[in-house]
Amino acid sequence: MAEKLVAVKGMNDIAPPQSAHWEWLEDQLRALMARYGYRNLRTPIVEPTALFVRGLGEVTDIVEKEMYSFEDKLNGEQLTLRPENTAGVVRAALESNMLYEGPKRLYYMGPMFRHERPQRGRYRQFHQVGAEALGFAGPDVDVELIVLASDLWATLGLTGIELEINSLGQPAERLAHRQALIAHFESHASLLDEDAKRRLHSNPLRILDTKNPAMQDMVNAAPQLIDHLGPESLAHFDRVKALLDAHGIAYRVNPRLVRGMDYYNLTVFEFVTTQLGSQGTVCAGGRYDGLFEQIGGKPTPAVGWALGMERILELLKEQGRLPEPPTPDAYAVVPDAASLSQVMPLLRALRQAGARVQMHAAGAEGMGSMKSQFKKADASGARFALIFGADELAQGQVALKPLRGDRDAATAQWVLPLADPAAIAARLRAD
Ligand code: ATP
Ligand code: MG
Repeated sequence: MAEKLVAVKGMNDIAPPQSAHWEWLEDQLRALMARYGYRNLRTPIVEPTALFVRGLGEVTDIVEKEMYSFEDKLNGEQLTLRPENTAGVVRAALESNMLYEGPKRLYYMGPMFRHERPQRGRYRQFHQVGAEALGFAGPDVDVELIVLASDLWATLGLTGIELEINSLGQPAERLAHRQALIAHFESHASLLDEDAKRRLHSNPLRILDTKNPAMQDMVNAAPQLIDHLGPESLAHFDRVKALLDAHGIAYRVNPRLVRGMDYYNLTVFEFVTTQLGSQGTVCAGGRYDGLFEQIGGKPTPAVGWALGMERILELLKEQGRLPEPPTPDAYAVVPDAASLSQVMPLLRALRQAGARVQMHAAGAEGMGSMKSQFKKADASGARFALIFGADELAQGQVALKPLRGDRDAATAQWVLPLADPAAIAARLRAD
């Protein structure tokens, strides 16, 4: 036998029954996005590498070490599997002049790729849903997006997800803070680890994000950006907080929340839970007014978030909120293969009338015994067996036998005319 091929490490198949959970979550998301007026945008999975280098910033975890980049063998182009979708959304908006008629609310859903160490809640192919509001200066839309995410938790029945917010101010304010920060870190140079030393002059803000316990006290004592914010940035932040208060949405201001990508300014936020171990951030986002310019557009305000679908599904499982996988309404028991030419078109008519019907398919030895067919019917989870026995067919009828619920009451069975598939389908769908 040939050597068995397996999936790439950190990249998973999503198979039944779990795939039904994915579909269900996607349905919930689509419905919610529609209620808030966000419309779907689908961008390519492969983009020019430069889009992410310019968009995300050179000194970010993603660009430094997580991207799947390669050269197109045919024309030498540098390409990358998208590690996130915000840069792609902005590129697409610019490329098709999407904001010509005014601002846009968009959402995306799909796989992203990052070369990280696979572990619980962290994969190399993972899936994000994101919402992006392009052309809105906020702070109302900042809050709209946060409320949208909060509504998602409510719709899904999830609890224990907490909101953290911060303001990153504007570039000039960040620069002043950055200088104060570098001075602080330099005065504690002996405490800095390798990562911190490397970032000291390239991206000192990211040092605040360190998980190194030996650096915590020093980092806690570092100058805070909020003290460098001017009146406009503070007013924006205050308005965000006031509007969140008006919704009764609780939040914690976390002055150390800086986010991984360079493109953020003003409002940033994360939704976190303690129920997923160390990968506790389920949704993260913020304002990115500088990104359009960074990738060659006119200055355009924008804000958005991205949510990790694997983490949300894990949390749904943790909290017992996943729906039962859908089951067929009926399983067709067909004792004699000769009757298939009569039975199959009827099954089709039932499906066209809206019923979910699974057919017993013949094996190498024919249709198999009634007993084995009923076993399969039971295992399928169907509510009814549709029995196409020789007697029933001779009389132009089919018998419906309930397979679920009160088994004694379920000895009852209905016999319906084959000539009326709509009536059969209605019976199968009835509560
Ligand atoms: P982290 O700090 O966990 O690495 P991040 O800041 O890199 O997160 P973002 O780029 O903001 O994450 O992505 C938004 C969301 O996507 C995250 O909050 C998380 O839920 C999810 N996510 C990010 N990376 C992964 C991954 N490798 N596997 C699964 N989910 C991920
Ligand atoms: Mg990351």
